[in-house]
Amino acid sequence: VRDVLVVGAGLAGLRTVAALREHGYDGVVRVLGAEGVAPYDRPPLSKHLLDRTSPAWLADDLGHDLHALADEVHLGRAARGLRPLAGGGAAVGTDDGELAASCVVLATGAAAVRVAGWDGARTLHTAADADALRTALGVSPRRLVVVGAGWIGAEVAGVTAAAGHDVTVVEAREAPLAAALGVEVGALTAPWYAAAGVDLRTSAAVASLDAAGVRLADGSHLPADVVLVAVGARPATAWLDGALPLRDGAVPVDEAYRALGPDGPLPGLLAVGDVAVRRSARHGWVPGGHWDEALHGPDVLVRHLLGLPVEGPEPVPYVFSTQLGHDLTMFGLPGPGDRTTVLGDPRDGAGWTVLWSHDDAVTGALVVDRPRDVGAARRLFARDGLPHLPLGPDAAPAADLR
Ligand code: FAD
Repeated sequence: VRDVLVVGAGLAGLRTVAALREHGYDGVVRVLGAEGVAPYDRPPLSKHLLDRTSPAWLADDLGHDLHALADEVHLGRAARGLRPLAGGGAAVGTDDGELAASCVVLATGAAAVRVAGWDGARTLHTAADADALRTALGVSPRRLVVVGAGWIGAEVAGVTAAAGHDVTVVEAREAPLAAALGVEVGALTAPWYAAAGVDLRTSAAVASLDAAGVRLADGSHLPADVVLVAVGARPATAWLDGALPLRDGAVPVDEAYRALGPDGPLPGLLAVGDVAVRRSARHGWVPGGHWDEALHGPDVLVRHLLGLPVEGPEPVPYVFSTQLGHDLTMFGLPGPGDRTTVLGDPRDGAGWTVLWSHDDAVTGALVVDRPRDVGAARRLFARDGLPHLPLGPDAAPAADLR
């Protein structure tokens, strides 16, 4: 590997540079970033929306100094277009000219979905977005409408309601977190909203936004001072402008994080983090959106790139969330038709765990307010292949996973 260009200065980009140096790579490493600031951690942006400010977020330097590790760091220079080179690698366009490298790692992450015509609404993906949202809310109680009861919508609703704001969450699906957990399991989180003082409207489609608030499809109007649209994130691949084949908008990669073309891996082109969708022997195609994947994927990428041994099973998809007074930890990737088994009683306040299974193979595990199950759930996926547990209709599952 003659030289490496990392496109995207977020968690996955930083961890790629750090892994290269940790494994002794002494070639030239350059980094392009679009945000104008050094990499920082995003999960606190929603969970600590109101009790942290920009300097604190940006000081979350994730344990590595990008400037000390890379030969060149361009933080306010967005990539615009990519041209694969005949011998491998690519030339990446920027407003200040092209940068070429024999190995290009795409780590441009994701961007919050914006809805055309909803111009006054805010989204939350960057520290600047968080600052703007916090400033808009101010210190006296405001009416906040959050569109979307996904991970970020739920987290923001919880912390803003706890601070005394008047919060309504509008969700088009029948239950919160339906995209990640399915309707049946997502519905188990619905009572948390009222308990936290949040007005949750499910199966409620937004028709339009106006200066005074949000109009729903049923004609009702929700007055709002601030509207946050939290309807998901999409891989940041628009800048590629069709240069690489995409799968569901993301860069498809194999187990070694090599970008895949129609005939197999594209030489000198890799992708990791939210921008990629990873082919997994255990879970099928694993989309981005997982902090843990951006944290640990780069080490696997670099080991393959440098021809170093890769130990242990492939990483398991892992998501965590603190929302509306509850802690959630999820491993694996359940499919839409998978069977669910609930361990514990979601109503008794002592925590519960859900296992998803297909035949008798466990595809996912969600642990809610039960720290003792987290380690056991993680260990389920500590081997190659899916774990098998007796979860058939006649099985009496243990009260917890240990
Ligand atoms: P990003 O962090 O998005 O970084 C990509 C970087 O690339 C950005 O700085 C971007 O500006 C830059 N870039 C984009 N386009 C270009 C371009 N053309 N040229 C140059 N640079 C470019 N995950 C969890 O598992 N648990 C959580 O609790 C959790 N909470 C979250 C809360 C919030 C508010 C957000 C926004 C995300 C949360 N996530 C959470 C998701 C997690 O933060 C991401 O999975 C992780 O940040 C992905 O890292 P990444 O480096 O791939 O992408």
